Amino acid sequence: MSELHDECGVIGIFKNDDNVDIVEETYLSLYALQHRGQIGAGIAVNNNGRIIFYKDHGMIPEALPEKELSRLGNGNIALGHVKYSAGGQVDHENLAPLVMRYIKGQLAICFNGALSNYHELREDLNQGAAIFQSNGDTEVIAYLIARARINTSSIEEAVQQAIERLKGAYAIAMMSPSKLIGVRDPMGIRPLCYGRIGGSYVIASESCVFDSMGGEFIRDIEPGEMLVIDSEGVHSYKRKETGKTAVCMFEYVFFSRPDSVVDGVSVNKARQRAGRLLAQQHPVEADVVCGVPDCGIESAIGYAMESGIPYATGLIKNKYIGRAFNNRKKNSEYLMRIKLNALKNNVDGKRVIVIDDSILKGKTSKHIVELLRQAGAKEVHMRIASPPFISPCYFNSDTTQKENLIAARMSIPEMCSYMGADSLGFLSAESLKEIAKDCHLGFCDACFTGNYPIEITDTSRDDKYSKKIES
Ligand code: SF4
Repeated sequence: MSELHDECGVIGIFKNDDNVDIVEETYLSLYALQHRGQIGAGIAVNNNGRIIFYKDHGMIPEALPEKELSRLGNGNIALGHVKYSAGGQVDHENLAPLVMRYIKGQLAICFNGALSNYHELREDLNQGAAIFQSNGDTEVIAYLIARARINTSSIEEAVQQAIERLKGAYAIAMMSPSKLIGVRDPMGIRPLCYGRIGGSYVIASESCVFDSMGGEFIRDIEPGEMLVIDSEGVHSYKRKETGKTAVCMFEYVFFSRPDSVVDGVSVNKARQRAGRLLAQQHPVEADVVCGVPDCGIESAIGYAMESGIPYATGLIKNKYIGRAFNNRKKNSEYLMRIKLNALKNNVDGKRVIVIDDSILKGKTSKHIVELLRQAGAKEVHMRIASPPFISPCYFNSDTTQKENLIAARMSIPEMCSYMGADSLGFLSAESLKEIAKDCHLGFCDACFTGNYPIEITDTSRDDKYSKKIES
């Protein structure tokens, strides 16, 4: 139950089949990405160059009511987006898709990631008298594309020129009046893939979208690749020099759904491998292994298989709470208790190994140990299916300050004592490559090692443009 939150999920659909209801397809596909963002959702539909959109705060059913969907039309291209932001409340202007009017008509953009040169780009645009409505990366990218389009002969050229100026992590889905475009950052930090659902081509943050919609995954969009889908088919534009690649290791640890395959690696298998390795590296005598839902479950199963200690459900997560709940004024311990509870029958009188995906601030882990003890656990051994999280991530929307990271301030014995656990063990940093060994690309593991794949010169998202920390 990581205290880090992702981010955003993007979907783009190009309809080739008149029987397809594009709004319905986009809406239902978004459910497969709800885990990537719960603060807001939006859909934009291209009706012969006229883009109609709706976006609002909340989880999908709350943000996208039926009566609003019914007025989006039934065009041939659509974008969908789910948003997460660390700052809690997000202004409506920062929700996506961002729809703008420019010299060539309308353009809509969805974004996942974080630009590490956001301040520099925004300041540059400000000096050119740009007027911004939001404080997010998406509008900066939209401006760059609009400017580039003045001197280019196609949207493809304009997008290529614009992305040359971007640094950082991004997966973008956008639509022009006649094209659906997907772009992945040159290091491949954020995931993006494409496939088919019925007769329609689909770009999505994760492959689980295709499974859940009865579609077909075709392949991951490569680092630095731009994919353009129009009435003539699918066109790929690749950079000649892509340099080093750095797929986000945390996609396997926490961000992605276990039924997704990211760059050739099954997320479910990666988590089970992490659990097996953890059992080898930090064995302990116990009666039962349980996982912290959702992302600790697969690793707990791996630990149980490797150690021979039986797996049992030890913690129950309440999945039916949304934004309105998170905004309540009760103290956080009270709210945590409603979100997560221990299953007394399975832990009472037992020596429990509890597996979580990661630890950031440590408060959730402390709460979990307390819950298990209150439910009667005789011993609580905390095992973490990733190494200590020691450095902030500057490649997603949830950048936390280093001083908030418990592993950056405390030794492992100190953390163990803070949580009140009987023992604490983390997966070794050397094991990370092992858990995603089927991937042919390089990895970013900066939050575990402090070695960033690019130089980080701008460490704050909380700037003079932001009312709140915002993606
Ligand atoms: S720093 Fe961590 S969370 Fe951020 S991109 Fe790298 S591996 Fe992913």
